[in-house]
Amino acid sequence: MTRHDQTSQQAHTIDYIATALADRGLDLDLLARRMRAVSTESDATGEIVSPPWHADDVSALNMNLVPTRYGGCPALECLVAQATLMACLGEADASLALALPGPGLAMPPVVALASTQQQARFFQRFQSGTPRWGAFAITEPDFGSDATAMRTSARKTGRGWVLNGTKCFITNGARADCVITFATVNRQMGRYGVRAFLVDRNTPGFTVSRIEWMAGLRATQLAVLSYADCEVTDDALLARGDEKPLDDAFSGAQRSWDYFRPLLSAVMVGTCRRVRADLAAWLDAGGTPADRHRSVASVEASLRDIDRQIAAAWLLCHCTAWKADRGVATSMDSSMTKAFASRVAARVTRAAMDLAGIDGITAFPSLEQAYRDAKAFDIMEGTGDLQRLMIARAAQRSTSRPWDIREPSNPRASDAHRSRQETSHDA
Ligand SMILES: Cc1cc2nc3c(=O)[nH]c(=O)nc-3n(C[C@H](O)[C@H](O)[C@H](O)COP(=O)(O)OP(=O)(O)OC[C@H]3O[C@@H](n4cnc5c(N)ncnc54)[C@H](O)[C@@H]3O)c2cc1C
Repeated sequence: MTRHDQTSQQAHTIDYIATALADRGLDLDLLARRMRAVSTESDATGEIVSPPWHADDVSALNMNLVPTRYGGCPALECLVAQATLMACLGEADASLALALPGPGLAMPPVVALASTQQQARFFQRFQSGTPRWGAFAITEPDFGSDATAMRTSARKTGRGWVLNGTKCFITNGARADCVITFATVNRQMGRYGVRAFLVDRNTPGFTVSRIEWMAGLRATQLAVLSYADCEVTDDALLARGDEKPLDDAFSGAQRSWDYFRPLLSAVMVGTCRRVRADLAAWLDAGGTPADRHRSVASVEASLRDIDRQIAAAWLLCHCTAWKADRGVATSMDSSMTKAFASRVAARVTRAAMDLAGIDGITAFPSLEQAYRDAKAFDIMEGTGDLQRLMIARAAQRSTSRPWDIREPSNPRASDAHRSRQETSHDA
């Protein structure tokens, strides 16, 4: 499916974005075509051997996700536009869409937690003709879903802070120029002990230990990062210096998840659209379903089911992004979007493989790649299980009636309940 096959609303939005990016020297159609061309290679190697961008594109790519006040593209300031763009890029290649230069997942915590001067310095790095990446590091080898239990420590010294610990599965971690790193000043304090630091890749004590070989989304080069007596200055601690309490840094991580879950879901919508288009191309070229007893009507019913699921996932992405653009708190919507899009991606990619069988997969390797990418997507930014857990908690809270609210007979029990809620990945 090309952007011209999409609904007129989406086509209009993507045309508007493409025009704005063209003014900044980036040809979106050409970029998408090049991403498709190097998709198999980057999946096979886990690297961007042949970058899909040209030297002229880099400045515009670097500035994607940079707020307008720091030079970002006004057409991409709202989340609906970002989601539309991500769906377009995801249709070309999900992994490369997440591996394109730019601040990426590091942007929301910087906007939420950093002072104006820190923000200006951080975003200025991306005003460059050389590719630049940002990264967001919270997951540790023993603490993923339970992120507030992190072990990476931050110790205050006379000159600044010393960080010690290990982070893992960090998107673009190996290529990032700076990594927003979450560390704890006191593990006993749970989420309130967490602080966020901007760590430059050249800081002594900071190393990229290895890049994981993943089942899917390989071009994102998930990295293991080590901090061994890694000393940063006082100014590396993200601190707004206004009403925002310093001990609320975990909310910056939450901000990143709320912001990115609909965007990642849009990437998966794009991937499902591509799977659907590849299936159609294969059938049109005379491909026969793996199960040769399947009737034409049953194949058509499967395709219609795929179309319905993709449309529903996109509507959810769009609705969540639309709400976020209007300042509505969207934590629950973001979780619902990601949980649903993740299920749709798993179901659509599985259905496509079942339908196409080995002949179809040989003709269109992207079908099998999309299946693996969908699996990685389910884990990224909080697993599907955790999203469902958070949705259930939020639903439980919202359905309670005033007459259900009772003073807890045992206040310690309610504290324990609160502390359980506050120590999960998405407290
Ligand atoms: C492609 C990709 C990109 C990523 N990018 C980043 C990044 O940029 N930065 C970063 O910091 N991290 C990143 N991650 C890490 C990701 O956020 C974690 O992998 C994720 O939070 C899960 O943590 P874990 O791997 O430790 O699994 P665990 O938390 O150990 O979970 C293992 C299993 O147990 C289940 N589980 C855990 N707790 C519960 C519970 N309370 N109830 C029910 N089931 C539960 C999970 O659903 C899962 O199936 C990335 C991961 C992937 C796959």
